[in-house]
Amino acid sequence: MKKNFSPWLHQLKGDRGYQKINQDVITDVSIVGAGIAGISTAFFVLKNTDKRVVLLERFKVAHGATGHNAGQIVSYFERGFASLVDEFGLDMAAKGQRDVEDAWHLLDEMYDDAKLTIPFSRFLGHAGLSGLDQVILHLKNNLMRKEGGLNTERILVTENVEFLDKIPDIYKDLYQTVPQEEILNILETKSKDFVAAVSYQKGCVNSALFCEEILIYLQTKYPDRFSLFEHSPIHKIVLKKDRAILDAGNHTVESGRVILCTNGFDSVTIFDESGLDIDTKFHHMIHGTVGYMSGYLEPMSKPPTAISYLTDPDPSTNDPYFYLTRRMYEYDKDTKTNLISIGGPESFIEDSKLYSKDDEYPEEMADMIDRFVRDVYENDPKKNINYIFTWHGLMGYTKNGVRLVGPEPKNEVLMYNLGCNGIGILPSISGAQRISDYISLKKVERSIFDIPTGN
Ligand SMILES: Cc1cc2nc3c(=O)[nH]c(=O)nc-3n(C[C@H](O)[C@H](O)[C@H](O)COP(=O)(O)OP(=O)(O)OC[C@H]3O[C@@H](n4cnc5c(N)ncnc54)[C@H](O)[C@@H]3O)c2cc1C
Repeated sequence: MKKNFSPWLHQLKGDRGYQKINQDVITDVSIVGAGIAGISTAFFVLKNTDKRVVLLERFKVAHGATGHNAGQIVSYFERGFASLVDEFGLDMAAKGQRDVEDAWHLLDEMYDDAKLTIPFSRFLGHAGLSGLDQVILHLKNNLMRKEGGLNTERILVTENVEFLDKIPDIYKDLYQTVPQEEILNILETKSKDFVAAVSYQKGCVNSALFCEEILIYLQTKYPDRFSLFEHSPIHKIVLKKDRAILDAGNHTVESGRVILCTNGFDSVTIFDESGLDIDTKFHHMIHGTVGYMSGYLEPMSKPPTAISYLTDPDPSTNDPYFYLTRRMYEYDKDTKTNLISIGGPESFIEDSKLYSKDDEYPEEMADMIDRFVRDVYENDPKKNINYIFTWHGLMGYTKNGVRLVGPEPKNEVLMYNLGCNGIGILPSISGAQRISDYISLKKVERSIFDIPTGN
């Protein structure tokens, strides 16, 4: 039986002690949840305001989705840009997209301020497409990006592919045709199923290690304004007109603002004493998806990369695509290798409470990934591959697949920076900066991340 063994948690400091909440606390800002969203929110609130911050985590820092992801830094949403335009209009969608892309600079800012030295690579990443419908979908997104004033993605299409004359003329300036060999080289595969490649900036970081390092920086930089309590679950939040009371079991935390960075809503009950009921059912994740990943080590002979492979030519089937990253990895202090990590297979669960990070890793998911690796990436069915890591994590999706960031319209004491939505590293960091703008009373423009008022 395979266990949930994540390469990201393996690199954390095993000997870092932790502090549970052991007295009642009064502070300016409390943050619930210490994944990438909670840690980044603490970072920007501490940096951009003079508020005192208390961060509360029910397990340990970064042991949620942040410690079980693919560690790929990407700026897209798990839905095409054109569909965001359909929902929000071009200007709002472009602004939301730009906010996420700007989070690259925020990530740099965090990395530089904390003087981090952990591996963080940035490069041109790629996605391999295997059918006309996928190509059209990406071209449509590209056209909308151009109209919204955003950088376009580079799209290469095989020069003699049979569907070339079916690509509408409106897209003709948005792609180039090249020999298929060039596309296969970019995608590092020999599989002739891939007929087009989309390229855009991507990166790699161990987001759990990043959180741990930022945490140590915050504890050193703001000893009087920042505290972290781990193994301190918050069960209930009572909202008053001007403050929140958090129930942490034997103790309470009282704060002027509370920010939920809990990924979803199912672990906390909210009571609003100021009047209107806050019905978090409205915000409930519509479904939980468990994502499965495997990883193996190989000599450090190739540069870091991130490549997605859309193996099913039909985008409407919702079949998983495979995503692969290669990066420098230290399994222990003396071994520097490349880590190849691959994800793709998913399973749906009705109720995210049914998921446990201690669940076993199903053999069929391991087999699915192994088949993909042999057929597409290694191009060698017989190669001896030792998957040292197999791990899974819960991805909750909000109703529209867009993160929720900002104050609760019914009581602004409560704020959110949450919603995993498959891709969350840059959106969490972007959300963190936005939260600090609200708290420092800057004028914050409307955005696609705002909390809907209709609940
Ligand atoms: C398999 C997989 C692959 C992924 N790949 C990528 C990728 O390549 N790139 C990318 O950008 N994103 C990826 N994601 C998504 C990304 O990991 C998440 O969006 C991101 O980590 C979410 O961060 P978070 O801080 O919002 O949530 P989390 O990391 O889940 O943190 C929430 C924290 O809140 C704590 N908490 C919850 N309730 C309470 C409570 N009541 N009291 C106290 N604490 C509480 C939890 O214990 C947890 O530590 C992936 C996710 C998965 C599962």
